[in-house]
Amino acid sequence: MIESYKRKIDFQDNYDAIVIGSGMGSMTTAALLSKEGKKVLVLERHYVAGGFTHVFKRKGYEWDVGIHYIGEVQNLNSPIRKMFDYVSDRNLKWEDMGDVYDRIIIGNKTYDFVKGVENFKNKLISYFPDESSAIENYIQMVFDCNKAMKKFYIEKALPSFISSLFGYFFRKKYLKYSSKTTYEVISSLTQNQQLIKVLTAQYGDYGLPPKQSSFAMHASVVKHYFKGGSFPIGGSSEIVNTINPVIEKSKGKVVVKAEVKEIIIENDRAIGVLMEDGKRFFSKIIISGVGVFNTYDKLISNELSIKYGFKNNLKAVKPSVAHGCLYIGLNGSAKELSLPKHNLWIYPVKTDHDSSVKNYLDNQDAEFPLVYISFPSAKDPSWDSRYPGKSTIDVITLLPYDSFVKWEGTSWKKRGESYDILKESISKRLLEQLFIQLPHLRDCVDQYELSSPLTTKNFVNYNKGELYGLDHTPARFSQKFLRPKTPIKGLYLTGQDIVSAGVGGALFSGLITATAITGINFMKKIYK
Ligand SMILES: Cc1cc2nc3c(=O)[nH]c(=O)nc-3n(C[C@H](O)[C@H](O)[C@H](O)COP(=O)(O)OP(=O)(O)OC[C@H]3O[C@@H](n4cnc5c(N)ncnc54)[C@H](O)[C@@H]3O)c2cc1C
Repeated sequence: MIESYKRKIDFQDNYDAIVIGSGMGSMTTAALLSKEGKKVLVLERHYVAGGFTHVFKRKGYEWDVGIHYIGEVQNLNSPIRKMFDYVSDRNLKWEDMGDVYDRIIIGNKTYDFVKGVENFKNKLISYFPDESSAIENYIQMVFDCNKAMKKFYIEKALPSFISSLFGYFFRKKYLKYSSKTTYEVISSLTQNQQLIKVLTAQYGDYGLPPKQSSFAMHASVVKHYFKGGSFPIGGSSEIVNTINPVIEKSKGKVVVKAEVKEIIIENDRAIGVLMEDGKRFFSKIIISGVGVFNTYDKLISNELSIKYGFKNNLKAVKPSVAHGCLYIGLNGSAKELSLPKHNLWIYPVKTDHDSSVKNYLDNQDAEFPLVYISFPSAKDPSWDSRYPGKSTIDVITLLPYDSFVKWEGTSWKKRGESYDILKESISKRLLEQLFIQLPHLRDCVDQYELSSPLTTKNFVNYNKGELYGLDHTPARFSQKFLRPKTPIKGLYLTGQDIVSAGVGGALFSGLITATAITGINFMKKIYK
């Protein structure tokens, strides 16, 4: 059972490892260590565990915050599926979303991304018959890039001296792809701007438009969904619900409402954590899964952060864009309302993705650069028995943190009238986008609530309301400090920032962190 820090908890003083944060990376690291018999304490500041995999419930509905679809879990032998099975003792179950996983909408044209590489390729060629060789070359490039990825991430788990001798050879092939922008790579294959717009339409999955994002990130997302999308049966909270017992089996604990204030470092070694209420917990291994900005800017003193070069390291990376999500509750089941399982991606007609983002960042009354619509209750086969006669929709767009900065010091739900008015006007615009696509829903909306970048900051502790941790620029991929082992003995990192955004990226970060700590080849152990 996940316990609350505010209650009396039987803490023991001999945890083998303490993990800060309970996101996918943290939970994976904790589960892998627990499977090796280690007693792990996971400390989460929010009142719900899971980081972006948590759900919230309000007025008879439940919404998933940071999971809309996950790829590569239908095949029992895929690395991601094997990892999920391993850390959840095979208790996490998945529902396939069907043949179409993403529908791209640009004006009156729609483009479906369909399951299966051959199907995907043929579908795209049917939309762009003159571009068949560019499409084939593009798909090959996506595979080539992903092939080089494995060694790049394995290098992050290597001991420092091996990495300093041979690291370059592990990294160099992937760096060839990651150092180029998505646009640079794709425009070398085709000059058809509409095709480029369609091929890069999933940029919302990593938050940066094609002229800014690294091709490596683009390729990893695209390939991730080639075999379709899936959704956790029972909702995304099932991720924590199924991993927590694995941690408890080794006498570990996941505790919520437990905010870590500082990592205690003595004689160049991490030895424990100081909690917000002044309590201290000690362990030889401290793992931070709360993002590199939080770890190096907040949990470590300024003096040490300068001494170890962390302040300088952080100058080379940037927080990702922030977002707003309109959480909608509707009267009627997904079937009654004919809600699709696939996601909708809606884009402006006249501008390319980069110009659309720029126009919008310059003036938030401009057209939304992207609107993403997901139908979680249609994806989860357990939904109807849990919430009969109801359904949910999430509508997401980019919202710059700067537009919300003036309410920074205010508290959740009490940010004042001007904040509520701004949120209401954004909500109305997003609702209209939904009704353009599905006009019959106009009379079915029971309630809605918009999250803002301040909501993300409040609940998941990303200081600029970051949607995806660090920006996925070419520069990010060349940063050697984004690895599990830090220069401080006993202190490790995990989570999306050391691999990449996405539940799959965070899951894999847990694997390389546990490998770096124990020296155990978890990849071999799990994938065999
Ligand atoms: C709107 C949205 C939609 C998404 N959709 C998808 C999707 O469909 N598919 C997909 O694969 N990925 C998706 N993602 C991305 C994915 O959810 C994340 O990349 C991933 O879950 C991040 O995991 P993480 O391990 O880095 O930890 P996070 O989820 O970032 O969790 C970090 C945790 O640390 C806690 N914490 C912070 N500071 C402290 C402290 N001082 N003390 C204690 N605890 C602390 C936070 O409260 C938080 O719980 C989405 C993300 C968002 C925001």
